[in-house]
Amino acid sequence: MFDYHNHTAFSHDSEAPMTAVIEAAVRRGLKSIAITDHYDPDYPNLLKDTTIDLDAYFLELTNAAEAYKDVIHIVKGIELGLQDQVTALLQRAVESYHFDFVLGSFHVADGMELYGETFYAGYPAEAVYQKFYENCYRVILKYDQFDVMGHVNIIDRYATAIPAFHTYRELVEGIFKRLIEMGKGIELNTSSIRYGMGEHYTPTIEMLKLFRAMGGEIVTIGSDSHRAAEVGSDIDFAVELLKTLGYKYRTLYQDRKPVFVSL
Ligand SMILES: [Zn+2]
Ligand SMILES: [Zn+2]
Repeated sequence: MFDYHNHTAFSHDSEAPMTAVIEAAVRRGLKSIAITDHYDPDYPNLLKDTTIDLDAYFLELTNAAEAYKDVIHIVKGIELGLQDQVTALLQRAVESYHFDFVLGSFHVADGMELYGETFYAGYPAEAVYQKFYENCYRVILKYDQFDVMGHVNIIDRYATAIPAFHTYRELVEGIFKRLIEMGKGIELNTSSIRYGMGEHYTPTIEMLKLFRAMGGEIVTIGSDSHRAAEVGSDIDFAVELLKTLGYKYRTLYQDRKPVFVSL
């Protein structure tokens, strides 16, 4: 089992020491774990320190990978918070450290936090989704230094209402087309199950089917754990889900290059 999305105390929203996260992964028999702490510069909520000491983080990752190399494979990752005005900072981070795996995620759109109410207030659900996915498309046209887009439909977690897929499907198609052309993938993020979103997964079944139908091959699976107890959660379920949707592989990364493993 592999879990490609985990946070440690280097992230503003986790207190889990890196060793506790790794030990939990070892106890659960995981073969490989990607640590992907947040680097979200210019975050609009000043009460959250979403930056990271990249030197300290990369050093601890490197030391942990070495210390545990006979027990578990540690993938040196990062979760970049994508926004228009920070692409130069993100680029510098990715070029300065030898990461194995880079998630590109949206936690902010049009300069507003997706968490909370500001982004949604005063707009009908369809218009909110339109501006969210247009924001994502615009940023990934400009910035391509990531491997996989994290939790594509994170907006479903926070929106006050989720419109029917057909009302924003074309925008998602545009994003998938761009990702596929760039040789990038999407993530099946199992945290929706912990958030009580039932069968509304991140991405949804409709999105996973669309990506597959468009020729999308690269899908990573991650728990998005923020506590050691969450490491590896629902990964087995996600593997089965991908199989039922006709996917043949899950994707791992080494040196920023995809490695395909049969499901
Ligand atoms: Zn995220
Ligand atoms: Zn995350």
